[in-house]
Amino acid sequence: MKSILKNIIFIEYLGFIFMTLVLWLNEIFDIPHYLLGFKKTPINWPESILESFLIIILATVIITLTKNLLKKIEDIAMRDPLTGLLNRRYMYEYFQYIKSTNSKRFFSFILCDLDHFKKINDNFGHDCGDYVLKKTAEIIKNKIRPGDLAGRWGGEEFLIILPGLEIYSAFDVAERIRKEIFNYDFNWGSDNFKISMSFGLSGSSLNDNHPCDIITCADERLYEAKNSGRNKVVY
Ligand code: GH3
Ligand code: MG
Ligand code: MG
Repeated sequence: MKSILKNIIFIEYLGFIFMTLVLWLNEIFDIPHYLLGFKKTPINWPESILESFLIIILATVIITLTKNLLKKIEDIAMRDPLTGLLNRRYMYEYFQYIKSTNSKRFFSFILCDLDHFKKINDNFGHDCGDYVLKKTAEIIKNKIRPGDLAGRWGGEEFLIILPGLEIYSAFDVAERIRKEIFNYDFNWGSDNFKISMSFGLSGSSLNDNHPCDIITCADERLYEAKNSGRNKVVY
């Protein structure tokens, strides 16, 4: 996605450089008159300097507008609209990117899922479920470092990727998120309720193992957390 956007900007730059070049070539060699065999018109330097200046202003405005627009499109393509977290597609792109760099860096993965979330929808409605998802995403975002990645992996399931963090430190991060969610008082109209979350952890360099295997491993541990009473971190 990023490379497509960069290509668009690059082509725009080339286009404007080409326009300015044509303007000056025309000014110096008077191409239309030369081709049609008419008498050469004298070079009007102030006029062509002004025209070049206008092209540069136009280029700056158009390229800035395009950059902002592409940034918005990129944001829409990579984020989950409800929670604002990264989406699954972006995370797969990230795996491909890391694999292409041949990095031996260690990555910790936290796969987490809200416990008995269906009951929230059933008891308080779908909008309340959405509110819980948004609040959970906010808590996750606030508990990770700027270089970490948090994404919505499925309905009420989230994937957190912690580059360069050993599994023991990732356990601490997961524990902090688990406690924060469990201690949070959710308010929906006149209703107050609590919710918990279960966590499965795994870790590896992305080049030693396939990302899907690392996530499957985290998923198995999440399953273990669910089966052994929920509201816990298993690694
Ligand atoms: P467990 O503890 O085993 O994970 O139980 P659970 O109830 O959390 O899991 P289950 O898979 O039974 O139900 C998940 C529910 O999440 C069902 C689905 O309707 C709901 N869900 C998925 N996506 C959304 C969403 O975007 N908004 C809302 N409000 N609900 C969603
Ligand atoms: Mg669940
Ligand atoms: Mg689930």
